[in-house]
Amino acid sequence: MDDPDVVRACNVDWTGKVVGGAHFLLRPSSSAQLELILMLANRLRTPIHIQGGNTSLVGGATPVNSDFILTTSKLKRIRHFDSQLGRVTCEAGVTLGELSEYLRGTGYHFGVDLASRESATVGGMISTNAGGIHFIRHGGFRDQVVSLDLVTPAFGLISASSKYLKDNTGIDVGRIAIGAEGTIGVVTSATLRLIPNSASSYTVLFGVDTFSDALEKLRFARQFATLSVAEFFTYDGVVLVEEAIGARVPFRSRYYLLFQFDGGHLMEQELSDAFRNIEGNVAVASDAVSAKKLWALREHHTLAISTLGKVDKYDVSFELGQIEEFWSSANKRLESLTSSAKAYIFGHLGDGNVHLNVVSRLSSAVVDEAIIGLTLEMGGSISAEHGIGTLKSGYLSRAKNDAQLQAMRAIKATFDPNGILNPGVIF
Ligand SMILES: Cc1cc2nc3c(=O)[nH]c(=O)nc-3n(C[C@H](O)[C@H](O)[C@H](O)COP(=O)(O)OP(=O)(O)OC[C@H]3O[C@@H](n4cnc5c(N)ncnc54)[C@H](O)[C@@H]3O)c2cc1C
Repeated sequence: MDDPDVVRACNVDWTGKVVGGAHFLLRPSSSAQLELILMLANRLRTPIHIQGGNTSLVGGATPVNSDFILTTSKLKRIRHFDSQLGRVTCEAGVTLGELSEYLRGTGYHFGVDLASRESATVGGMISTNAGGIHFIRHGGFRDQVVSLDLVTPAFGLISASSKYLKDNTGIDVGRIAIGAEGTIGVVTSATLRLIPNSASSYTVLFGVDTFSDALEKLRFARQFATLSVAEFFTYDGVVLVEEAIGARVPFRSRYYLLFQFDGGHLMEQELSDAFRNIEGNVAVASDAVSAKKLWALREHHTLAISTLGKVDKYDVSFELGQIEEFWSSANKRLESLTSSAKAYIFGHLGDGNVHLNVVSRLSSAVVDEAIIGLTLEMGGSISAEHGIGTLKSGYLSRAKNDAQLQAMRAIKATFDPNGILNPGVIF
């Protein structure tokens, strides 16, 4: 397909910051077609860029060095649902929203959830090992994949779809693709673990004025095995969300913690007893409509901040005790560069993973050096969940040691010896 409007849309990343130069869009509708495309591309040494829902926040899905985009938009089949083992097998182009809709009424749901759910695809989420809001309870995508099918330039289709939940027959080759950002093969389908639905859900918003109080609330919430979300944002950020979507935050505090607990029928009583004596700003939602309102305050941060102009995004993780130091040092570094930069922090506090969004007129390279440089100096991870993509690849050599880099390059060369997949991503 070479419809210029469609191809143009696929060349621009979600943030609008990264623009690719591809002229052609390849849309295989079966694994067999996809295998043929990859075989030809490998033979002709033609670079190809893989795209799922194009929600990457690190320019991962943007064809910066390829004339061809291979999209999974036609790989949409949900092939099998196993209600006894709690598993579903679906093709790579199924979005998280479509999967959730399919599972409605089955008694199961999927363990990973992200704000980009309506566009993010199974293949994209596997390839970025997406984290999301339930990581604290169910882990990331790596923890949900039972098996997957991967088409690689060197070996063609590697079908690692074992029929069994437990299968220890040597190296599980397919799993190497989880988090590999499409650099070693194309994920065509996967069998995913499902979570039985809870009888009830309880959402609580706390407001506190110091970061140590925020950590104290997190410690308190963590004592409940039913804790399945521990998110965090600040007053500055929520004001933008209020403006962007017309929402109202129930009270004014410096920091906000959003907790969700999912459990049995007795859980609500246990939680309301426990929370009764807590002083300060707190709002409880025990029905779906009020929970949705609290959730909107957290979920619309990325969108609300993106309305301010150029945003440089950082997705970092630290020990919990380092986050306050990171936040204040990041602000100091930005102040030393310009008086007009504004930083927003929010994210998955329960996982030690925060998103720092910087709005400024500084060049991205200057902001990157300030924030990624600080993260590396503090020993944090420069990508907790979004991946390296094309935007962070220049920092990989400072984030990994020589042995790690050598091993990563050797894996890439084994699966994709001619370097045709996603040139510019990670490496
Ligand atoms: C509003 C918003 C909120 C977000 N929240 C979160 C969050 O909470 N947690 C989180 O982890 N991420 C989050 N993200 C980032 C993003 O949604 C995830 O990285 C997601 O997993 C990307 O899925 P996708 O289908 O859009 O992949 P794309 O963006 O299309 O691609 C991502 C990478 O995977 C590769 N790829 C895509 N499909 C395949 C395939 N079938 N086989 C091999 N490689 C493939 C691409 O080449 C690229 O390198 C958010 C993004 C937005 C816009």
